[in-house]
Amino acid sequence: AGAALLTVILFTLYIFHGIRRNIQLNKELVLAKQRAEDLASVKEEFLANMSHEIRTPLNAIIGYSERLSQTELDKKQGEFISAVQKSSDLLLATVNDILDFSKIEAGKLRIDAIPFEPAAVVREVVDTLQLHAEKKHLALQYDTSSIDDLFVTGDPIRLKQILINLTGNGVKFTDSGFVKIICTRVDDGENIVLKYQVADTGMGIEQDKQDLIFDAFSQADASATRRFSGTGLGLAICKKLVELQNGSINVESQPEEGSVFTVVIPYLPANEERVTYVKQVAGKPNVEQIKDKHILLVDDDEYNIQLTRM
Ligand code: ADP
Repeated sequence: AGAALLTVILFTLYIFHGIRRNIQLNKELVLAKQRAEDLASVKEEFLANMSHEIRTPLNAIIGYSERLSQTELDKKQGEFISAVQKSSDLLLATVNDILDFSKIEAGKLRIDAIPFEPAAVVREVVDTLQLHAEKKHLALQYDTSSIDDLFVTGDPIRLKQILINLTGNGVKFTDSGFVKIICTRVDDGENIVLKYQVADTGMGIEQDKQDLIFDAFSQADASATRRFSGTGLGLAICKKLVELQNGSINVESQPEEGSVFTVVIPYLPANEERVTYVKQVAGKPNVEQIKDKHILLVDDDEYNIQLTRM
């Protein structure tokens, strides 16, 4: 009986010890969670501040060097300013990639749902990169014939970002031939589904690297990338942006023959009234309409105010 009593006492003590330990661990867990949440919000705040602190002076550097390049310069000065422009453009692209990636990681990136014309976005992408392609003697083409005049509800800015990234890569990794954007409808009965294909005749990607390139910071060929520059974030951002829109992205490629990146995104139809409105306000601003008008510009950066005034 004594031994049994002793066992019961020991067992009870053991249980109490277990409960105390459990409570203690729970407390530590709550504290650790709080700390992690605090750190995450500090990181987000830091990135938001950095975004402003880096982009504001960069904006001034890019703006003023553009103005400077339009003044009369001798050959050497022209070369110097061109180097400043190229370097600051590259820096801006890198900063934008890092900030976008962090924003997506923090779950802070929202996808818009507004009426827009996908074919117009494709045309804008081609306009943006045309000069870049011409410099490399590449043909930059597009085919939107099956979606011309179609309006859908979705996010035009993010679509443009994805297509600029893929098409920009196409131009970057192609030395001769063409880069082409083809857009077709592949509806699934419920949604309007659009398929965007970006094809190039460039260096291609080895089979075993094709999944890897969608991971952050990864590049298929380190030596090629040193030649071409880049952060390895572009495709990771594209993948996240496509997934946030319930879509998919993949690549088919043969080394030395070229690559085809395919993005599929489902959309809701666009409301007719909204489309009419968007069509009315779209287009280039009419300079005559804003001539002699006063504009109030609010900015905390003196240089950027001066730049806008110019
Ligand atoms: P970055 O272009 O900044 O290196 P990306 O994430 O856009 O980063 O691309 C990752 C890698 O995928 C590139 O470094 C390159 O090796 C490969 N890649 C992407 N697009 C192409 C393409 N069109 N042709 C060949 N390789 C490509």
